Amino acid sequence: MISYIGLGSNLDGPVEQVKTAVNEISLADGIRVMAVSGLYRTAPVGPQDQDYFINAVMKIETSLSPEDLLKRLQEIEHLHHRIRTVHWGPRTLDLDILLYGNDTVDLPHLSIPHPEMKRRGFVLVPLLDIAPDLVLPDGSSVSDLVRLLDPDDLKISPVVL
Ligand code: ATP
Ligand code: CA
Ligand code: CA
Repeated sequence: MISYIGLGSNLDGPVEQVKTAVNEISLADGIRVMAVSGLYRTAPVGPQDQDYFINAVMKIETSLSPEDLLKRLQEIEHLHHRIRTVHWGPRTLDLDILLYGNDTVDLPHLSIPHPEMKRRGFVLVPLLDIAPDLVLPDGSSVSDLVRLLDPDDLKISPVVL
């Protein structure tokens, strides 16, 4: 199945955190990386008294079920010593499953498509890099969704490495 993963970090060297995570995901059994977006510097969601985030998205092909994929991604978050403190607060690494093929998953601990992705510039703009023609299960296209974003949600800039 083709799946899209969102990556984010705003602690302890966010650029390195995200690059290392891409590598770890590429080494995981049952996952093949198809594409990785550029890295973007974005304003934090939620509490504003925290550092900016580095965000990226990746396209993978996976033989894992959505739940096993979530487990694997959570193991990788733990490798980065992610400590859950404040909701939407600072973190070393956040890995979200954005899409899993055209499937909809509605479990207490797993919602796919990611419920916030349509409103988030830091998800949609990197997605446009690697999947300009992508259409969500509800029929909305990534390029249309980007056009509908509030200017405030577009406060993101490419990281020059
Ligand atoms: P947001 O989901 O708004 O981006 P967050 O990423 O900060 O917030 P977390 O604390 O990382 O939220 O995750 C809380 C829980 O969300 C996880 O333990 C996981 O079970 C659940 N979850 C539900 N849907 C997904 C998904 N599509 N990808 C990753 N986690 C998910
Ligand atoms: Ca998230
Ligand atoms: Ca998350």
